[in-house]
Amino acid sequence: MSIAEIDLHSALKKYFGFSEFKGLQEEVIKNVVAGNNTFVIMPTGGGKSLCYQLPALIKDGTAIVVSPLIALMKNQVDAIRAVSEHEGVAHVLNSSLNKTEVKRVKDDITNGITKLLYVAPESLTKEEYVDFLRTVKISFMAVDEAHCISEWGHDFRPEYRNLKTIIKRIGDDIPIVGLTATATPKVQADILKSLGMPNAVTFKASFNRPNLYYEVRPKTKNVDADIIRFVKQNEGKSGIIYCLSRKRVEGLAQVLQVNGIKAVPYHAGLDAKTRVKHQDMFLMEDTDVVVATIAFGMGIDKPDVRFVIHHDIPKSIESYYQETGRAGRDGGEGHCLAYYAYKDIEKLEKFMAGKPVAEQEIGHALLQEVVAFAETSVSRRKFILHYFGEEFDNETGEGGDMDDNVRHPKKQVEAQDDVKTLLETVSKTNEKYKAKDLVQVLVGNSNALISSHKTDQQPFFGIGKSKDPRYWMALIRQVLVARYLKKDIETYGVLRLSELGQEFIKTPSSFMMAEDHVFDETSNDGIVTNVKGGGASADEKLMKMLKDLRKRNAKKLGVPPFVIFQDP
Ligand code: ADP
Ligand code: MG
Repeated sequence: MSIAEIDLHSALKKYFGFSEFKGLQEEVIKNVVAGNNTFVIMPTGGGKSLCYQLPALIKDGTAIVVSPLIALMKNQVDAIRAVSEHEGVAHVLNSSLNKTEVKRVKDDITNGITKLLYVAPESLTKEEYVDFLRTVKISFMAVDEAHCISEWGHDFRPEYRNLKTIIKRIGDDIPIVGLTATATPKVQADILKSLGMPNAVTFKASFNRPNLYYEVRPKTKNVDADIIRFVKQNEGKSGIIYCLSRKRVEGLAQVLQVNGIKAVPYHAGLDAKTRVKHQDMFLMEDTDVVVATIAFGMGIDKPDVRFVIHHDIPKSIESYYQETGRAGRDGGEGHCLAYYAYKDIEKLEKFMAGKPVAEQEIGHALLQEVVAFAETSVSRRKFILHYFGEEFDNETGEGGDMDDNVRHPKKQVEAQDDVKTLLETVSKTNEKYKAKDLVQVLVGNSNALISSHKTDQQPFFGIGKSKDPRYWMALIRQVLVARYLKKDIETYGVLRLSELGQEFIKTPSSFMMAEDHVFDETSNDGIVTNVKGGGASADEKLMKMLKDLRKRNAKKLGVPPFVIFQDP
């Protein structure tokens, strides 16, 4: 029976138990079965795996699947084996296999039993494997998480770079299927080029996730208390909380536990056994919350994650979209809450300082988009979809009212005159201040740097003192986003006027500034957020807090008020 005659629907039913294809799956699969190069762009949870698994099962030969994570491959192999007669239908080829195991994999491939061979990209660089794969029939090559090939993606893996060469060595005319959930035009172009398939038929699904609610809150010193409150309001629901550092992960997990929330930490610094244990606890619902670094989540298929919180803002919109995308995969509720403080952006910028200039430029450009997203007053969904090259209409689009900016529009104020003042100050003080110092000039506070420049910035010193320094800081950020100012890369952080900015000074136009909510300081409600030891005085403070807590809040929180001390 030829492939054309095989009914795709019955194969779908037979191998996967589904009665309908999802989204573009059927079109994609037909294209893969026909042996064309194929490029699949679908959001996380869109059902990309099936786009290569089903063709692999019905085509002659073995499909090679490149995937960045061993855990991810193992899950898929187990799932395929569960519905097949022969265990050899799917294998993982990696460095942990011994000689006998490698021989078994090779035999199964040679005997036509293996339909899917999963490999990590670094294993594919092994001569022995490549030499063997040259001698057998390969149906096609699937490159999953193909954005790993691009430095503009959120998860660049240098080993992905060599794939094109390796594929060519395995066979000259092996069809390639690239799959990704990253939809920026830049990454797409990189993928097509790096995989050497400019002519690939591209299938792009919409990235709208109408069931996700997007919210950004200002990050104050009470962020932990705010998170606890949020989690308590969502008691019993599954959620992920992302933090930037391992230390913060540990600290926050502990704070949550202390406050009676079932939470476990997850980061790459934990030993493998603990990581697996914590991941399983999450999947089996023995814990509600995983506090994690970005090491957690890729390929974790838990459909009912009800919230994803970003304690620290991620370094790109793609990362944000990927990470929030783990919420509500079953189509049910999914709350995506990110905490934002400009300080954190500066921290991320500092991390990049030692990197090669090109990499820094990419990093800054991506970060600037994050700032824009966090500070925007337009619909977050519209912003994200626009970033991915998709037009979204809030009035008619699905999920159009599912974000904070639409539900509670930010107040906007006309800031045309202040923008002009700001830009003129930058220009006439000869573009030598970073944002922080420029604000000091505007409000008329001197510091060592400013006094050393006193003469030429004289007329500007204190020109904006009727406004709060935080107002000026927020305006500078929004003006940066509007590209009237730019940050110098060499002397990192010094503000310079752009051409657009020069235009603005000549012919000022309306500039609506979104009111900044960062000034909010909510009370702590007696939630214990300080579990670190830190010298006697810190302990004393903590003990006093504890006492207060006992009195006031045991009832409100519904947990026994206790606290643990970490070894210093
Ligand atoms: P992606 O790789 O795009 O993130 P997956 O391939 O992991 O998505 O699939 C996400 C989920 O959708 C999986 O649980 C999968 O079983 C399910 N799925 C895929 N195709 C279908 C389908 N046609 N019908 C129902 N469920 C599907
Ligand atoms: Mg996938």
